[in-house]
Amino acid sequence: MYDVIIIGAGPAGMTAALYASRSNLSVLMIERGAPGGQMNNTAEVENYPGFDSIMGPELSQKMFENVEKFGTENAYGIVQEIKDHGDYKEVLTEDKSYQAKTIIVATGCVHRKLGVAGEEQFAGRGVSYCAVCDGAFFRNKRLLVVGGGDSAVEEAIYLTRFASEVVIVHRRDELRAQKIIQDRAFANEKISFIWDSVVEEIVGNDMVVTGAKIRNVKTDEVHEEPANGLFIYVGLEPLTEPFKNSGITNEAGWIETDHEMRTSIPGVYAIGDAREKGLRQITTAVGEGGIAGQQVYKYIEDNK
Ligand code: FAD
Ligand code: NAP
Repeated sequence: MYDVIIIGAGPAGMTAALYASRSNLSVLMIERGAPGGQMNNTAEVENYPGFDSIMGPELSQKMFENVEKFGTENAYGIVQEIKDHGDYKEVLTEDKSYQAKTIIVATGCVHRKLGVAGEEQFAGRGVSYCAVCDGAFFRNKRLLVVGGGDSAVEEAIYLTRFASEVVIVHRRDELRAQKIIQDRAFANEKISFIWDSVVEEIVGNDMVVTGAKIRNVKTDEVHEEPANGLFIYVGLEPLTEPFKNSGITNEAGWIETDHEMRTSIPGVYAIGDAREKGLRQITTAVGEGGIAGQQVYKYIEDNK
């Protein structure tokens, strides 16, 4: 029986582990991939205090080394379900069952798919959701980036390190991204924009992407835009399927909590990008991790 099981080892989960283990609680952190979460798919992080700029995977590594110092146990596993047995909770992975007095859910979210023809067919053959993973394959190539938020614009800027040209395709005539990121993109000579337009189909030959059919939403005109690759950044979906039956998610799948990160089940907390909230950032994830790491200590003391 652990004091707390943390599900997910992104910045939120790792910070919760740091706080809980430094309070001398027994902590198990279950992760289905590498520690770091979305930070592993992020090129440069420029808004994490203390670092002018740091590569996402390096920040992941530093956080993990920090957590390891204080005795958190780590397990590989894909969590399928949680069960509330009142005075204790159960976490089920594909092949194991773990028990704890409390649970912290920190499973984050993933990139939404565009849902157009060719997207699945050309995944890994020109269609990508991760510039830091795949950008280097596109040296001196022409790329399309779909979306107008922080991810699309920031990753488009990163892709100009490799690509000869990056064209951002956005469904409106105004970006959603933060002003400072927008300004950098507008000033970058390798970046151009196709406004008021959506990708209708990703096209290619037998092997790789050769372009995309793009429709102007105002005129309904469709044209084929040539490209060697297409990076998709059209928003996020919560990774909360395992918690749906427990009733802690809302209609859209995000987990609702109060300001102490408590869900509707006593002893079950949720933090980071999986929560219903406005600002999904590393700083907010670590802040919530600190709160939940401290809250589980209080919960266990109060329920002794
Ligand atoms: P995540 O980082 O998503 O981590 C969740 C972890 O849970 C993952 O490791 C996942 O494998 C694991 N998990 C999920 N489901 C299960 C399961 N069933 N069982 C076991 N494990 C599971 N933020 C910034 O502050 N600055 C930036 O510059 C910045 N750039 C970004 C660039 C991109 C391209 C993206 C996508 C995001 C960026 N963000 C940035 C946002 C930031 O990365 C996230 O807000 C942050 O990582 C959220 O942390 P988290 O711990 O809540 O979730
Ligand atoms: P986002 O902010 O939700 O933006 C998604 C973008 O995709 C929007 O521009 C949206 O258009 C567009 N879009 C959505 N569905 C579409 C569709 N079907 N077809 C075409 N376009 C579509 O998502 P995000 O950019 O991934 O950012 C997610 C979170 O991470 C945000 O909170 C963001 O601040 C954070 N983040 C922060 C940083 C940073 O701080 N440096 C970097 C990356 C991400 P509309 O604008 O018309 O809605």
